[in-house]
Amino acid sequence: MPTAIHHYIGGGTAAGTSTRTAPVYNPATGEETGRVALANEADVNAAVASAKAAAHDWAHTTPLRRARILNAFLRIAEARIDELAALITAEHGKVLSDARGEIQRGLEVVEFATAAPQLLKGEVTENVGTRVDSHSLRQPLGVVAGITPFNFPVMVPMWMFPVALACGNCFVLKPSERDPSPSLLVAAWLKEAGLPDGVFNVVHGDKQAVDALLHHPDIAAVSFVGSTPIARYIYATATANGKRAQALGGAKNHMIVMPDADLDQAVDALMGAAYGSAGERCMAISVAVPVGEATADALVARLIPKVRALKVGPGTDPEAEMGPLVTGTHRDKVSGYIDAGVAQGAELLVDGRGLTLQGYEGGYFLGGTLFDRVTPEMSIYREEIFGPVLAITRAPDYATAAKLINDHEFGNGTAIFTRDGDAAREFAHQIEVGMVGINVPIPVPMAFHSFGGWKASLFGDHHMHGPEGVRFYTRLKTITTRWPTGIRAGADFVMPTMK
Ligand code: NAD
Repeated sequence: MPTAIHHYIGGGTAAGTSTRTAPVYNPATGEETGRVALANEADVNAAVASAKAAAHDWAHTTPLRRARILNAFLRIAEARIDELAALITAEHGKVLSDARGEIQRGLEVVEFATAAPQLLKGEVTENVGTRVDSHSLRQPLGVVAGITPFNFPVMVPMWMFPVALACGNCFVLKPSERDPSPSLLVAAWLKEAGLPDGVFNVVHGDKQAVDALLHHPDIAAVSFVGSTPIARYIYATATANGKRAQALGGAKNHMIVMPDADLDQAVDALMGAAYGSAGERCMAISVAVPVGEATADALVARLIPKVRALKVGPGTDPEAEMGPLVTGTHRDKVSGYIDAGVAQGAELLVDGRGLTLQGYEGGYFLGGTLFDRVTPEMSIYREEIFGPVLAITRAPDYATAAKLINDHEFGNGTAIFTRDGDAAREFAHQIEVGMVGINVPIPVPMAFHSFGGWKASLFGDHHMHGPEGVRFYTRLKTITTRWPTGIRAGADFVMPTMK
C-alpha cells in the first residue's frame, strides 16, 4: 500500500484540499511506494499565509538566534545523516554513498549560513557631510519560494533555504514530485532545532502549485533549479509578477583533454563525472573533447573497458557505482537518445540499453553508454540527456575545442585536463561558462563561493548560496543621519549637496 505524502504547513503535516496525487516509485524495483499530494491554489495559499504570519517575528529575531537554530539543525542532520540518505536512495535511486555526499554538500551551505551575524553586517561612513553619517544595511525580503528538481532532493533546497532563513526570510519549498519525502524530514528536523512554525513550509505539486506561487502577491522572490525550458518560464513569469528571480537551468558540460594531460587521471575523472549518479547531475560531464587523433584514440581505448566494467545496481548495494534512473519514463527517454545517436551516425562503443538485473527486473536500470565521433549537429550533442551517456567529440586543436564550448547553448560547468599552465589560464579566461575546472572534472563551488552557470544555464542576476545568495535574499537600505546640532535654520530648496 503506497504511503500518502502530505504537505508541511505551519509546523506540521497538512493533507491539503486538493484530491490530485502522483505516484512515487522506488526506482530500483519499480514499485509504487508513495502517493504525493499535488497542491491546488488553496493549498499554496495556506502555505504562503502560514509563512506570512511568521514573517514579522522571524525578521526581528536576532541573526545570532537564527544562526543558533541553524547550528542545532546541522547537529541533528549530521547525527542522523543515514536516515535522510536512505530516503533519498529510496525515491531517487542514487547509491547511498552518493546520497550522503549530496547531504554533506548541502550541510556546508547550512554551515555557511550560521555566519549570519557576520554576513549581515552593513557598512558605515562617518561624516558623509559635516556631522552627517550614513549606514547601509541588508533586510529580508519577506516570504520567498524555492522550486527544486528531482536530482538533488536535499542539496538543491539547501542551496536556498539556509541562506534565506539566515537572512530573516520565511520559506515555501516546492520540491520535485518525483522524490518528495526527504524535504519533509528536513522540515521536521528544522522544527526540532527550534525553528518557529511557519518559517519553513513544504508544498508538493506540479505546474498548478508552481503557478500559484509565481502569481502569489505575498511571494517576494523565487529561486528555481531545473530544466532550461521551465527555468526560462519561471524567470519570465516571476519577474512579470514583480518578483526577484533566479532560475538555474540545464547543462551540457564539456571536458577538454589536451595531448599533454595525464590520461589515467583524465579517464578516472571522466568515469566519475559522466557516470556518477547515473549522469543525473547538472555538473556531470556529458561530452569529452580530446584534442588530436592520438589523444582521442588513447582515451577511447582506456575508457571502453572501464565503462563496460561499471557496477550497476540498486542504490542500497554498497558495491554499486551507479544506481537506476529516476523513473521508467526518464529511462526510456535516455534510451531514445541512444537510438537517435546511432541513427544520426555516432559510433556506439558501449551500449547500456536493455540492462536488467536479477531480482530487480522492474527497476529503471541503464548501463553506462559511450559514443565516439559525435558531431555538433547531432541531438545527442546539442541536447541535455541527463543519463549515463558520454559522448566523445574529437577536436583537431585547442581552439576548435574551446569554440565548441563557447558555441553551445548551455554554459553551466566545464573542465580542461592539461599540464600546460598557459593553456589552462587561456581556458579559464576565455571560456563562456560559469564554473570552470582545471584538472577538476566537477568544479562545484564550495558553500562560501556561489554556484551558477551562464547562458541558457541561468536566468537572472544572482548565483546561488555564498555571497550572491545573501545579496539575493536581502534588499539594501541606506540611512543618512543628522542630529539637531548639525541642522541649520531655514529651508533649503536646492538639491542637497555636501558642500
Ligand atoms: P524539471 O524542470 O522537470 O522540474 C524542476 C521543477 O519544476 C520541479 O519542482 C517540477 O515540479 C517543476 N515543473 C516541472 N514542469 C513544470 C511546468 N511545466 N511548469 C512549472 N513547473 C514545472 O527538472 P527535473 O527533471 O526535476 O530536474 C532535472 C533538470 O534540472 C536537468 O535539466 C538539470 O540540468 C537541471 N538541474 C540544473 C541544476 C543547475 O544548477 N543548473 C542543478 C540541478 C538540476
